[in-house]
Amino acid sequence: MKKEIYSYVFVFILLLVPFNLLLAKTNHERKGDKMNEPRKTILAIGAHAGDMEISCGAVLAKQAKLGYRIVFLHLTLGEGGNPRMSAKEYGEQKRREAMEVDSLLGGEAIFGPYKDGELPNDQTARRYVANVIRTVKPTIIITHWKNSIHPDHANTFAITSDAVLLASLPSVETVTPYSPKEESAWRGVRRILYAENWEDAEGFKPYIYVDVTDAYETWEKAVARYEFIGGKISSFPYLNYYKALAVVRGAESGYKYAVAFDIDNFEKKIRWESLEP
Ligand SMILES: [Zn+2]
Repeated sequence: MKKEIYSYVFVFILLLVPFNLLLAKTNHERKGDKMNEPRKTILAIGAHAGDMEISCGAVLAKQAKLGYRIVFLHLTLGEGGNPRMSAKEYGEQKRREAMEVDSLLGGEAIFGPYKDGELPNDQTARRYVANVIRTVKPTIIITHWKNSIHPDHANTFAITSDAVLLASLPSVETVTPYSPKEESAWRGVRRILYAENWEDAEGFKPYIYVDVTDAYETWEKAVARYEFIGGKISSFPYLNYYKALAVVRGAESGYKYAVAFDIDNFEKKIRWESLEP
């Protein structure tokens, strides 16, 4: 009898083995598929720490919840804006604030090597940003609109636009004093979106409206961790302005809260095969 039980157990185990192997293969294939699929990534490039978070952080928080990787590149810390602190001291504070805020929004932070007010519109900056693009491999890039009252913002637009092209060309070298390791070309950027910013208003027209109703609270709590957004440094009411803007863009687009972007004119094409009713 004992022998019989053993043989039944043996046969049962034998039958289970191929089934387990099959399961393992299917799981492996599933994992493999996910591993081969590049994670959708958004790179938000701002002139100063805080620029991208205040203007479009709600969209980034929403996309993070949807599974996107979110990376902030702060070309400068924006360390010059506090009359009560030295640039060094305030820069350290801004770095700490950026790391906390970006993490609360579901993202990660990269800090550029440049000084507030002195962002150079030059080849080195283009190659530095191209190197970051090659490293991060974004599918979407968000940055400043082309016109701005702040030269650092306008320079960030110019640097980023050219860097996307440089990053895509295999013949271009992107090694700089700030990016010593060469990276291979990245041609995966599908869209460049321009964030709405009170300093970059000239000629900006909201074109794409994104519903941020579900991410609004997360965004508001996160960005208030920046002292300048909380209203203790600048007389400009940052938080109230962007909260009100989310209401205005929401009203225009039929959402409770929305964030708007502009895109390049040449992207504003609607293709119809024929006139339809
Ligand atoms: Zn700024």
